Amino acid sequence: MATDDPDHTAPPGAHDDPELLEAGALPGEDRVDASLRPGRLEEFIGQDRVRRQLELVLVGARQRGQAADHVLLSGAPGLGKTTLAAIVAAEVGAAFRATSGPAIERPGDLAAILTGLEPGDVLFLDEVHRLPRTVEEVLYPAMEDFQLDIVVGKGPGARSIRLDLPRFTLVGATTRTGLISSPLRDRFGFSAHLEHYEVHELDRIVRRSARLLEVPVDGEGAVEIASRSRGTPRIANRLLRRVRDVAEVEGEGRVDLDLARHALELFDVDELGLDRLDRRVLEALVDGFGGGPVGLTTLATAVAEEPDTLEDAVEPFLLRCGLLQRTPRGRTATMAAYAHLGRPAPQAGSGVDPRRPGAVPLFDLDEDQTQT
Ligand code: ADP
Repeated sequence: MATDDPDHTAPPGAHDDPELLEAGALPGEDRVDASLRPGRLEEFIGQDRVRRQLELVLVGARQRGQAADHVLLSGAPGLGKTTLAAIVAAEVGAAFRATSGPAIERPGDLAAILTGLEPGDVLFLDEVHRLPRTVEEVLYPAMEDFQLDIVVGKGPGARSIRLDLPRFTLVGATTRTGLISSPLRDRFGFSAHLEHYEVHELDRIVRRSARLLEVPVDGEGAVEIASRSRGTPRIANRLLRRVRDVAEVEGEGRVDLDLARHALELFDVDELGLDRLDRRVLEALVDGFGGGPVGLTTLATAVAEEPDTLEDAVEPFLLRCGLLQRTPRGRTATMAAYAHLGRPAPQAGSGVDPRRPGAVPLFDLDEDQTQT
């Protein structure tokens, strides 16, 4: 079953799969993602506030018979930005076209896309923060006045001509709102930020995907997958497919609590959704450095990884779980980290602050200079 699944190649029992908990789409995963995408706003699970606000924007546009305002969606990978963009098109009954910032290298590339649009079309621009500046400047009048200024010819004979564009809706997506220039940001009529999902929401997503993939999952099995999915629907769907593989090979195809636990342990995904590297970092911090504080570079050396890998791929989730803190003197483990690793709580006077497990630091200072 499901042999067209692009990540079906990993046999059950393949332990070393550092990408399993990657929130971005893996190569070839787009097609699976697309097949599991809710098509309408009412099927979109969670993000209640964003959903209600977007509904108002879309109902208003429908009633006026106009293209909806441009929409900017921000949030971590895998939280549903592409899905929502496609929903915007479906809800207003318009065609959906997708491209991305890095794919548009020159103003001419953008002009070709914009002049090909029909009235009302929804243009999805992923990674909008990665648009080249020269392209961004062409986008401003297109978004604001639906006009395109293009330069024809070269040198002294060059002249600028202005083209009228159909009214369209641009849906921009970014993982980092801070990287979008303010002139561009200001041209979106509606902006929304997607947050990570609660377990009960991911549980509904897992059950919905299981129905679509025809995987029999019971309630406890679904919650188990949901709670190890790092608040991210894409990861929830991926874990579901892996668990299904194990259920088909080792069981009778049914996913219950025991099967889900067994499968996720096999793939080294623990109860909080930490993988092996996450746990190695925590163990190094707790066992090797007495809970810290320790500098990023020192910690990275201890686990034989690059500091960048730790900073970009490991720390954000540990911080979000309240297992690690960044302090001006270095990284420290929280009491929650000791509890999670099953280590006895540290004594008073150690580097671990027992009053504030999981506190979010106000300042993000790098401390490596204190470690030399
Ligand atoms: P992003 O564009 O933010 O990286 P996507 O929209 O591609 O994320 O979503 C990744 C996967 O997660 C898709 O397969 C989609 O079906 C699923 N998904 C995301 N958000 C939801 C949601 N709210 N309800 C159900 N499935 C979702």
